[in-house]
Amino acid sequence: RTKIHQRGSCTLFTRSMGIEIRERATLMQHLHKAFDAERLFLMYQPQVDLETGQFTGLEALIRWRTDDGVLIPPNDFIPLAEYSGLIISLGAWVLRTACFMMIRLQKAGIAPQRMGVNVSVIQFRQDDFIDIVEKALKDSGLAPSNLELEITESVTMSSAAMFETQLSKLKNLGVNIAIDDFGTGFSSLSYLDKLPVDRLKIDRAFVNQIDTPEGPRIAELITQLGKKLGLQVIAEGVEHAIHWKTLEAMGCHEGQGFFIGRPMLEDKLIEWIHTKGNSMRPQ
Ligand code: C2E
Ligand code: MG
Ligand code: MG
Ligand code: MG
Repeated sequence: RTKIHQRGSCTLFTRSMGIEIRERATLMQHLHKAFDAERLFLMYQPQVDLETGQFTGLEALIRWRTDDGVLIPPNDFIPLAEYSGLIISLGAWVLRTACFMMIRLQKAGIAPQRMGVNVSVIQFRQDDFIDIVEKALKDSGLAPSNLELEITESVTMSSAAMFETQLSKLKNLGVNIAIDDFGTGFSSLSYLDKLPVDRLKIDRAFVNQIDTPEGPRIAELITQLGKKLGLQVIAEGVEHAIHWKTLEAMGCHEGQGFFIGRPMLEDKLIEWIHTKGNSMRPQ
């Protein structure tokens, strides 16, 4: 038995590079099996316009439930999937599943403007990544403008030339691009100005601290930077009304976080849309 079955929280594996080779191999087997057995699924977290409270988007977030019913968060297994290469097929599945979900919401007349899908750098730098995105859109029938790919800031730095080429291909396709966890990496500013990026996602670390005296400074800077560059800005980790109000006051366009809605399964999400979808604004 691997430790993953003994412990609910898999911090042991988060540091996956530190664990024994044998153990890591076992865990990868479990992950491969889980993928085959459809033990991986997506949850969806809503995003709203901070000024109007309007439901604007969703982010698809992957989950793994083991046979024992233990829920494993993505930070504990995505690195492993990247390491083993499984992320390629896993990521393609996430894309397709999220696109088909949007179509169901559109048919029900309750879809937001866009669906955000996290993309690993391993996926992103594959030559056929564009084809995979195009196929997910074509097969589902989703318009490219309703899809947004979230790429973490560290990726933008890994290989400038590769990044630029892939991005412009995706832009030509018509999909939106967001830089995730913005502020935690080291974006080159001149670069950010040139790249066809649509949105910055302020990392939740900067939102967390927003109600302390010097806390809002970084979130405010990122918001101003985004606006200067003509980009949309969304804050992650909006957990309290005060976060919302402070972000709104500094001009941040949108928010996502537990105060607005947790990541939800489809049923719960549909209920959320009907009951809270357009009345989220704090008093
Ligand atoms: P992320 O893309 O930055 O996603 C936001 C994370 O913040 C999610 O964690 C979400 O559940 C969490 N979150 C949202 N609102 C709040 C809040 O108000 N407070 C707090 N404390 N947390 C909040 P999650 O679902 O555990 O995902 C973690 C990371 O795993 C994601 O960070 C993303 O980088 C990665 N990930 C998730 N799904 C996928 C996927 O399908 N593919 C890839 N490549 N990566 C994924
Ligand atoms: Mg994300
Ligand atoms: Mg993020
Ligand atoms: Mg994050």
